[in-house]
Amino acid sequence: MSFRFLYQTVVHPRKVVKDLGDAPTPQYTAATLHGSLQIRHVDAGSCNGCELEVTSAFAPVYDAERFGVRLVASPRHADALLVTGPVTKNMVEPLRKTLEAMPEPRLVISLGDCAHNCGIFNGAYGVEGSVSDVVNVDVHIAGCPPRPEVIVETLRGLTGR
Ligand code: SF4
Repeated sequence: MSFRFLYQTVVHPRKVVKDLGDAPTPQYTAATLHGSLQIRHVDAGSCNGCELEVTSAFAPVYDAERFGVRLVASPRHADALLVTGPVTKNMVEPLRKTLEAMPEPRLVISLGDCAHNCGIFNGAYGVEGSVSDVVNVDVHIAGCPPRPEVIVETLRGLTGR
């Protein structure tokens, strides 16, 4: 373990945070979100590759929370539903019920190519369809899986921070 690593992670941890530049122009509904976005994540059938990148986006290096975005445990506390993976048949009802449990106004964000068009799982026997086949999607984050920079940039587009 190098001194530089120790300095950046223990002595001065903020130095670890990646500089992602100025806030992008808000593209979606930043005016109604007031710079704060609470997200409930649902894995509807992902291979877990997308989850790794979501975790990375909220971990210390990319630190999405500094831009006003937070993952929450309950849909009742959420402004947005973040869905990964194609929707498997047994996740159709849980996905709809999670969305119904959220207060309005609410956003649906699909993340990853599988969420958009079922990706490599297209036509699989257990797959019902893409996320937009089950619930209305407001924002899509493309990639297989999307890079953490792309995830954070899209979320900043929502909070405007
Ligand atoms: S988009 Fe790629 S990483 Fe994400 S669930 Fe599908 S196959 Fe896995």
